[in-house]
Amino acid sequence: MITPIYNSSTFIFDSTAQGAARFALEEAGYIYGRIGNPTCAALEETLANLEGGEAALVTASGMGAITATIWTCISAGEEIVADKTLYGCTFEFFEHHLSRFGVKVHCIEITDEEQLKAALNEKTRIVYLETPANPNLKITDIARTAEIAHAFNPEIRVICDNTFCSPYLQNPLKQGADLVVHSATKYLSGHGDLLAGVVVGDTETITQIRLVGIKDMTGAVLAPNEAYLFARGLQTLPVRMERHCDNAMKVARYLESNKKVETVFYPGLESHPGHEVAGKQMRAYGGMISFIVKGGREKAAIVADNVKLATLAVSLGATVTLIEHPASMTHSPYTEEELVAAGIAAGLIRLSVGLEDADDIIRDLDQALGKI
Ligand code: PLP
Repeated sequence: MITPIYNSSTFIFDSTAQGAARFALEEAGYIYGRIGNPTCAALEETLANLEGGEAALVTASGMGAITATIWTCISAGEEIVADKTLYGCTFEFFEHHLSRFGVKVHCIEITDEEQLKAALNEKTRIVYLETPANPNLKITDIARTAEIAHAFNPEIRVICDNTFCSPYLQNPLKQGADLVVHSATKYLSGHGDLLAGVVVGDTETITQIRLVGIKDMTGAVLAPNEAYLFARGLQTLPVRMERHCDNAMKVARYLESNKKVETVFYPGLESHPGHEVAGKQMRAYGGMISFIVKGGREKAAIVADNVKLATLAVSLGATVTLIEHPASMTHSPYTEEELVAAGIAAGLIRLSVGLEDADDIIRDLDQALGKI
């Protein structure tokens, strides 16, 4: 029932002929730890099933999954169309680094169909989005985005970062995306005790990402010990997600009622502009909330600095409630202008609602907001 931890960096061949056949991919089997490992393989099979994909590849981190995928699917002179609201390091990779390698990235408002259609051209290879987006929980219609991209060119790969949902709440491949990436550091492993990532899709592309993006271009391989811990955390995904969602709904309603809060972004609230689309593509609304504190950055800092139960730290999807200030932390790679363009307000706080008693979380936020 539990896959052992295969702590081996390499695997024995019966003969030189067998080694040659494995390297030539003519015979299935393990070769070397950077290409595959039985502990990781068992986890990959589970993750592919959960996302409804043919194959999966686990990686050393979410950024490992994202960069290995992009390096495999893009070449100099080609283009990416991405939403402008992304996890800070994904944005930095796209907007500030890929240009050094001759790849142009159009960061647009992807929910605006006209902008999306205008950004697509014959050089476009990838359309990239997060939904709900980090940090402001913006919702993008996956099916509609994929429909527009594929109508323009069926070869375009639509890649969706599903970190905020986990496969328990949303399956982008079933909505028309071609590849799904995750920071498995978050809900998938669920306990805040490891870094991991995964990409799920068709067997051919996943094999390419394994042999190019991981083997040759990043080396971002997941260690077997981490794969074991990840698999252990994954066993409780449904129970954790149910509780994260229930707690977040209660906390979001409380925040909406607090006069010191300007806006609450939670897809489960009727006031959220993406509520309807979220209801169509998500099974429930997730454990992430962001909210703008009246009075901007200074007042937001007072709240973040005064929580007692919640932990002031980046990351998300752990058992404990985490609070952070995106403009000065996870999204600090954005310039001031880029923050404004991406709708990341100076007074925005991001909350990863944990598994504690919802009333305790609310009491904690209430006393911290009371310090303003
Ligand atoms: N994608 C999203 C939406 C994230 O929030 C993060 C990290 O916070 C990443 C990707 C990167 O994942 P990792 O930190 O595991 O590299």
